[in-house]
Amino acid sequence: MTDEGPLVLPMVYGIDDDTMYLHGAIANSLLGAGADHEICATVTIVDGLVFAKTPFNHSMNYRSVVVRGRARIIAGEDEARRALRIITDHIVPTWDTLRPPTANDIRATRVVALPLAEMSAKIRSGGAGNFPEDENERYWTGHVPVSMVVGAPVTNVDAHVSVPDAIAALSGTDLHSRQTR
Ligand SMILES: Cc1cc2nc3c(=O)[nH]c(=O)nc-3n(C[C@H](O)[C@H](O)[C@H](O)COP(=O)(O)OP(=O)(O)OC[C@H]3O[C@@H](n4cnc5c(N)ncnc54)[C@H](O)[C@@H]3O)c2cc1C
Repeated sequence: MTDEGPLVLPMVYGIDDDTMYLHGAIANSLLGAGADHEICATVTIVDGLVFAKTPFNHSMNYRSVVVRGRARIIAGEDEARRALRIITDHIVPTWDTLRPPTANDIRATRVVALPLAEMSAKIRSGGAGNFPEDENERYWTGHVPVSMVVGAPVTNVDAHVSVPDAIAALSGTDLHSRQTR
């Protein structure tokens, strides 16, 4: 909840054993408003579209998680740096191969820890659940897998070096199939 009312924003995250980390600029109004308050974070992956014999039974295949808890602002530089590494490497492990953020960079960033104490996960997979009375109806029914495939890297003019192996290796990867947390 912000001063202007309820607000939900997409964000990247990282997961430690029992903590989810989020980050944003100090000016970010949502993270500022969430500090030391109960917040809710959700993660959703759409794996497929499910078509039934009646729109009433259409569905989606998905994996989703809902986390609720009290957000804690990370105050110390060491803990913030560790959390930012976890967030960064959750996408692609690049933290160790790049110029580390300066102390000023860290100070300009709000890092929030959310305990993974209260959370739920839901998964749906497979085909449509049609009503028994529709058994003999002649409509197509089934499911269409959905994926998110990584394209080829596009190099900045100020890159000065070739594409790192870890990034080049991403091309063609289906992010939905990556083993991640
Ligand atoms: C995949 C993805 C990952 C992201 N990861 C992060 C992250 O880890 N950390 C981070 O700080 N930001 C992240 N962002 C950007 C984030 O969603 C916000 O846009 C950003 O934090 C804006 O903050 P703000 O304080 O400038 O805007 P605010 O002042 O909070 O927003 C002002 C208004 O702008 C509108 N608005 C803001 N953001 C969006 C949006 N994304 N889409 C549509 N309308 C919007 C809303 O109406 C909001 O009320 C991510 C965005 C995407 C799509």
